[in-house]
Amino acid sequence: MVAPRPYKLKCPCGYSKIVALKSDVLSPADLMAVSSTCPKCGKAMQKVPLGLFGQIFRMFQK
Ligand SMILES: [Zn+2]
Repeated sequence: MVAPRPYKLKCPCGYSKIVALKSDVLSPADLMAVSSTCPKCGKAMQKVPLGLFGQIFRMFQK
């Protein structure tokens, strides 16, 4: 078993957070961290792989 890769959760309202777990054994705090519900507006956030996010960011910089 390997640790999950970090990813970013992004909400349409502008809120975003990076989820990086140290292992695949989830503590209650980790379960809160991986929750995809936005704490600001309550909508479902979209999972964005960090690598892909970096590529998109570079595209916008051109
Ligand atoms: Zn939101």
